[in-house]
Amino acid sequence: MYNLEQVRQDFPILSREVYKRPLVYLDNGATTQKPRVVVDSMVNEYYSVNANVHRGVHFLSQQATELHEGSRETVRRFLNARSINEVIFTRGTTESLNLLAYSFGEAFLNQGDEVIVSAMEHHSNIVPWQLLADRKGIVLRVIPMNDKGELLQEEYHNLFNERTKLVSVAHVSNVLGTINPVKEMIAYAHAQGVPVAVDGAQSTPHMAVDVQDLDADFFAFSGHKIYGPTGVGVLYGKEELLEKMPPYQGGGEMIQRVSFEKTTYNHLPFKFEAGTPDYIATTGLANALDYVTALGMDQIFAHEQELTRYAMEQMLAIPDMHIYGQAAHKDAVISFNVGNIHHLDMGTLLDRLGIAVRTGHHCAEPLMHRLGIEGTVRASFGLYNTKEEVDVLVAGINRVRNMF
Ligand code: PMP
Repeated sequence: MYNLEQVRQDFPILSREVYKRPLVYLDNGATTQKPRVVVDSMVNEYYSVNANVHRGVHFLSQQATELHEGSRETVRRFLNARSINEVIFTRGTTESLNLLAYSFGEAFLNQGDEVIVSAMEHHSNIVPWQLLADRKGIVLRVIPMNDKGELLQEEYHNLFNERTKLVSVAHVSNVLGTINPVKEMIAYAHAQGVPVAVDGAQSTPHMAVDVQDLDADFFAFSGHKIYGPTGVGVLYGKEELLEKMPPYQGGGEMIQRVSFEKTTYNHLPFKFEAGTPDYIATTGLANALDYVTALGMDQIFAHEQELTRYAMEQMLAIPDMHIYGQAAHKDAVISFNVGNIHHLDMGTLLDRLGIAVRTGHHCAEPLMHRLGIEGTVRASFGLYNTKEEVDVLVAGINRVRNMF
């Protein structure tokens, strides 16, 4: 296990106060705080290297290109992708999934074809498919879940038919914390000849991911949720599929030759990367991935599992507590309501105690409908959170409860 106190020193923001109280940051599902190495690497690049990447003849441009392409190799290693051609830089999970829906949709989907998603998807793994449904008349099928927040595997199997062309499912639910058995779900889909996309926004920060071991056909994640900068993310895709898919956006970088008569496209991964990439953010992302890798993804997972177990035990003991998501395999996310205290009131009062949690529908309105609620309070843990912070949260919830 890494030294928690030492690790917390790497994150300057963790030592600040809000309302004269020590910050207890439990909104890691929305975004994570940044270690000094990540921010420093970006500042250093701006101050000493900055130049636009690719095709530059001058020294700085070549150095910036080396850094940017080196970051792609870091991502490849982190995901254990076969090739850097399979690593497409995007603005984040949302853009990755929009790219996928658009381009996979253009290449492979026709009127009446079906895409399977789950009841616990984030809006960014629902709405891009609905836009495609409007454009192409595809049909969305939804895997239901039980009351613990586990996807019903038999029902999942029953959704497949000859029109099923893709499964797109969250690795970890940002509301329930459920760790979905994506490896098994992928194996099942493959046995039916159907590829699978995984939304890894909430899994990559917490557990080791190996896209070859999962045999995922596509995998999306965001830099800012894994201690990296905002504005950068990744779409991994198997090369043979990406080769068959058309560009998502047009512009510089993604072309080979342009004429008014005929334009040809660049090879992978550049075919999908129109315009100047955020090459500073890719450096930050690579440093973030190196940072968590050095701590050890398995150590991070073990620490957060212990925190979650500790928090669940104490929170379940609070009278009138309702926790949404009690799957057997659960990640570091706890969504709850207490009695009939409105989630917004709970969140606002916890905030006054220095505790940052998120409230609302968490961009998963269909899931809220399934649960029959409007919203929850959500505490989500990161690698730097402590049991003392869980104690502060539990005391805070009890205090708010006593006020009502
Ligand atoms: N999917 C899941 C499961 C998420 O939790 C999030 C972020 N809350 C997203 C997708 C979207 O990520 P981003 O806003 O970074 O594009």
